[in-house]
Amino acid sequence: MLDVIKSRLLQGYRTGKFPYQAPKLPARFRGLPLLDNAKCSADCRACEQICPVGAIQKRAEGGIVLDCGKCIFCGKCETACEAGVIRFSSNHDLAVFERERLLRSDSSYSYELQPRDLVRRLCGRSLKIRQLSAAGCGACELDFNVLNTLAWDMARLHIQVVASPRHADCLLVTGPLSKNMLLALKKTYLSMPEPAFVIACGTCPISGGIFAGSEAVCDGIEETLKPDMYLPGCPPHPASILEALLRFMGRQTRPVLDTKGEDTKPH
Ligand code: SF4
Ligand code: SF4
Repeated sequence: MLDVIKSRLLQGYRTGKFPYQAPKLPARFRGLPLLDNAKCSADCRACEQICPVGAIQKRAEGGIVLDCGKCIFCGKCETACEAGVIRFSSNHDLAVFERERLLRSDSSYSYELQPRDLVRRLCGRSLKIRQLSAAGCGACELDFNVLNTLAWDMARLHIQVVASPRHADCLLVTGPLSKNMLLALKKTYLSMPEPAFVIACGTCPISGGIFAGSEAVCDGIEETLKPDMYLPGCPPHPASILEALLRFMGRQTRPVLDTKGEDTKPH
């Protein structure tokens, strides 16, 4: 018994310092794509042709537009583009409040907190989430579930998962919404107290992701429920999910990020 207590004392505090410090991300992490359309060649379509999910389109005025709401962050376009137009940055902060903001054609970035007073007032101090898995591969659920572990411990930030939709402020949906899950999604949403907020977590609930076009899915939840926040990623990193939840609540817990997504102050 003494050995157990001693080893526990030696373990110290294991929960990560994010969001009070920048997250530690793996070297191969692909975050916010930055585009330099000035370098784009008029007769090249390499990225558009190689993208497995049709997330890139050539613009009539030149350059490309990359839809993060369809992107699965495979990185093939970055490799295919010899002109260096596309670069995936290490900025994990990917969530937006409007679908159109996922269409990227430059390297801009802005740190946005919840713009709606109602959401800030109701969810600013605590957020109760009902997670609904609407098909998908399970990776988004895993990266969300990990926020409940010792390493991330989102409860310390007053964010909790609840078992019943009747106790939830917010429905966090993962997966492309299979037709079999359509009724379950509607019933879950209707069971929530008003106003019920919706977060689309992962590329699948935004556009269908890799399942888009299948007759078994609805290509995302947009036609059924309008999300109040869109978080792309396949899957989104836990840091991206936690950052999104905090911004959804309107909580700024550390120095704001600069235009490249770096913390403005060193820690
Ligand atoms: S990283 Fe995104 S935009 Fe680029 S090829 Fe992959 S899915 Fe398409
Ligand atoms: S977005 Fe990607 S990781 Fe998430 S459920 Fe869909 S396929 Fe899986």
